[in-house]
Amino acid sequence: MRVEFDKHYGPLINGVFETDAQERSFAAVDPATGHHLAHIRYCDEADVDRAVKAAHIAFPAWRALGQQKRARLVNLLADEIEAHSERLAMIDAHDVGRCISEVRKDYLTAVRHYRYFASVIMAHEDSGREIEGGYSIAKREPLGVCGQIIPWNAPAIMAAFKLAPALVAGNTVVLKPDENASLSTLELGKLINRIFPDGVVNMVTGRGETVGSALSEHPLVRKLSFTGSTEVGRIVAGVAARRLVPSTLELGGKSANIVFPDIEDIDAVVDNATFAAIHNNGQSCLAGTRLFVHADIATVFREKLIASFNRVKVGSPLAEDSRVSCLVSARQGQRVLEYIGQGVKEGAELLAGGERVAIQGCEQGYFIQPTLLLARNEMRICQEEIFGPVLSMIVWDDYESMIAQANDSEYGLAAGIYTGNLKHAMQTASRLEAGSVWINRYSNITDGTAFGGYKNSGIGREFCRETLNAYTQVKTITVQAQVPAVWFSPL
Ligand code: NAD
Repeated sequence: MRVEFDKHYGPLINGVFETDAQERSFAAVDPATGHHLAHIRYCDEADVDRAVKAAHIAFPAWRALGQQKRARLVNLLADEIEAHSERLAMIDAHDVGRCISEVRKDYLTAVRHYRYFASVIMAHEDSGREIEGGYSIAKREPLGVCGQIIPWNAPAIMAAFKLAPALVAGNTVVLKPDENASLSTLELGKLINRIFPDGVVNMVTGRGETVGSALSEHPLVRKLSFTGSTEVGRIVAGVAARRLVPSTLELGGKSANIVFPDIEDIDAVVDNATFAAIHNNGQSCLAGTRLFVHADIATVFREKLIASFNRVKVGSPLAEDSRVSCLVSARQGQRVLEYIGQGVKEGAELLAGGERVAIQGCEQGYFIQPTLLLARNEMRICQEEIFGPVLSMIVWDDYESMIAQANDSEYGLAAGIYTGNLKHAMQTASRLEAGSVWINRYSNITDGTAFGGYKNSGIGREFCRETLNAYTQVKTITVQAQVPAVWFSPL
């Protein structure tokens, strides 16, 4: 499918896309080819203010619409996204450089996510209990305007994670897409605009330091939800603390993936570990980038892993058989190559990859070979988030030391375990400091499985019923059958 882009994109404020004032715009560029895709307007503080005020004005009617009607509209949005998913996926393949086969799956996940929240809200009942002479009701109410800030690495999923729970719960939204990947979110805005009342969903485009910051600071924003780096997450959390508004933070990761010596199908585990590290070109918060392999099987595992890494097809984002494609920007590509060099300097052994690859027709792009290093956990490549197709293999033999190393990370987003022994699996899962632990299948996420980080990987959980609690607040209403007889100041 050939994708046509609008020439100009801009913020969505109160049901109107503002695509004029192009003197304040930045270019969306295909990172693989360098082709100019569109101009996008830079918003400023005044634009953010108008967007937040539009959401604030839309809030009472949206809240009053009721769960059933809101859920119906969110389901309609899921249908629209499904109908347009091929075009949206192609937009992301051009705008972010990711493999088309992979981004298509993102849209399936996103569609499921909207439908999940449209369903689960219907079971999000208020609770209550009898009290002496009456009844107490704990009623969940929406918070108001939610400021939501997302990164570039998976726009479909990131937008769905934010919009679906906020909207079904009765909140209105101002969403800020990342400046590296705004196009599919703004196209999603067009679908939203056909379905939702004006002002319920607004989008502001541009730089994090101006637009993201103005959104976090706006006094009418009653909830902040941020996905991105731990560094910026700290800034957003600081603003939330100062303003005393609740915040959900989904941040970085450096996840441990642990292989026990008793695995039955070594090829399957090698394949799973390869996927874990380099899906989404390694630009994934949950990537399993520290692979702990038991010494008893390390030699054979290592050879098979090298072969697996060398087999992975690196190619154009638009080629159906590509499994690794282009990093989001030259800056990101150079950063990844620097990390690989740094790892070798620190004494890591380069087992596979390590180079930039030239892909015909995509000469501008940073395509990096799937890269495997034999490393030690204390090295920088094992401690810092690289966000590229780079895996560090670490050999272990002492269980306690392996657990200590796996937990020796500022992050705690996810972890994987491969073993045929359920007891080992469960014991290890409970020892790991990670928000998700996947046994025998990495990234085994489905609707309703809570996702979020321990330690510096974040605060709060998305993707699950509990998320609705983060988008609502409890009002307790107590009812007495009658006013108590005079007792405080008797006649
Ligand atoms: P980033 O933190 O640089 O940017 C994320 C968003 O924050 C962007 O929209 C950006 O414009 C905005 N922003 C930047 N400065 C801001 C400020 N001062 N105030 C408010 N907003 C600001 O992250 P990135 O490089 O775009 O994304 C990669 C990071 O995101 C990685 O660390 C990755 O692990 C993380 N991530 C986490 C999850 C998760 O669910 N835990 C999911 C995806 C990505």
